[in-house]
Amino acid sequence: MIGLPSENLLGTVFGVYLARAKDEEIRKRKVASGGAVTALLTYALEKGIVDGVVTAKRTKGFEGQAIVAHNKEELLETAGNKWSIVPFAARMKAKIEEEDLKRVALVCLPCQAQFFAQMRDFPLLETDFGERIKYIVSLFCMGTFAFEAFLNYLRMKYGIKAEQIKDIHLKKDFLEIVYNDTKLDLPIEEVYSYLQAGCLVCTDYTGTWSDISAGFVESEPGWTLLIARNPKAEELIKNAEKEGYLELREGSHLIGEVLKKAREKLARAQQNMMYLL
Ligand code: SF4
Repeated sequence: MIGLPSENLLGTVFGVYLARAKDEEIRKRKVASGGAVTALLTYALEKGIVDGVVTAKRTKGFEGQAIVAHNKEELLETAGNKWSIVPFAARMKAKIEEEDLKRVALVCLPCQAQFFAQMRDFPLLETDFGERIKYIVSLFCMGTFAFEAFLNYLRMKYGIKAEQIKDIHLKKDFLEIVYNDTKLDLPIEEVYSYLQAGCLVCTDYTGTWSDISAGFVESEPGWTLLIARNPKAEELIKNAEKEGYLELREGSHLIGEVLKKAREKLARAQQNMMYLL
């Protein structure tokens, strides 16, 4: 385990890796990061370590829906950022029961990771399905949109309709909206006022309750930063490398970059909390 002064803000850090998919097809479908989450979960599915991956798939604009992926193709369809929060729990429970899934991996946001990890580690109800959750993978998150309000704003101010939006990327100080064959760069401050109210006071950037956190660091485009939080997560990552699914590099020198984002998120939450008190 890496002893970090930042442990509370980043949670338990067992190992940090820069990773990318060995599979060209996966890499091609990923723009900013290395497709490591897709490759890792493809490995888990193909080797029978899990029998389903619950994740979100973007439908139109910022909207998404929770689906269960059973193979690489279905995982690839979920690639890319989702900028709205997808209602997971009810859909997931129904799917798990319908398909009788016994071992699932979840790809979710830090707030959802906390919910599912608490259900798994400290079950409260007999109807909980925590024992079926094998891995929780959390994506780094600065916030999701109150998408109806934001889409309305984009339509009114820039004439962009939801169905024209092809992709959205967070760049250094702006949000890049790709629509039709063009791009719009929106300054971050302009975008922040359309985040969900809960996101404005959320302090978890990486998903400290997860088994594996995954995200993009600006200094390493084309790679995914993976934080393994326990031995089981570490083993999954290392075995995926051994089996030829992942290319791995040591990533602990980049933890400062992640910490900087985590501190920014904490500072934002503290500032917003002050307004609420
Ligand atoms: S900012 Fe926090 S509350 Fe908002 S979606 Fe991300 S993890 Fe969830």
